[in-house]
Amino acid sequence: MNVTDLLLRLGLDPADLKPAPSRAANAQDAAERLGPEPLPCAACGTPARSTRIIDTPGHGRRWLDLCRDCMLATADPRRPTVPLADTLAVLRDAAEEAGLTVRILIDEPPVQP
Ligand SMILES: [Zn+2]
Repeated sequence: MNVTDLLLRLGLDPADLKPAPSRAANAQDAAERLGPEPLPCAACGTPARSTRIIDTPGHGRRWLDLCRDCMLATADPRRPTVPLADTLAVLRDAAEEAGLTVRILIDEPPVQP
């Protein structure tokens, strides 16, 4: 889903989103935006569970903080999956930044013969 379609689907005006830095988002950004007091979802206002930077037409790079439901409603199934090790590294970094100890349980689907 391209950015224009994403914003349209969520009913968002990019002018209402917070400007984002030109660098890539990192674990510290995630901890600050989604930590103990998460920012509100840009679409519905409930606590955000994901954040990312999008490059919007006419308004440049903006933060897109979304709750779980809004994130899943706009997930692109064609998007390549991220290797599990990379996902775990991001979770570990975010937990460390937030001063938390986390245990991660992974439930992988059974291998098909
Ligand atoms: Zn939402």
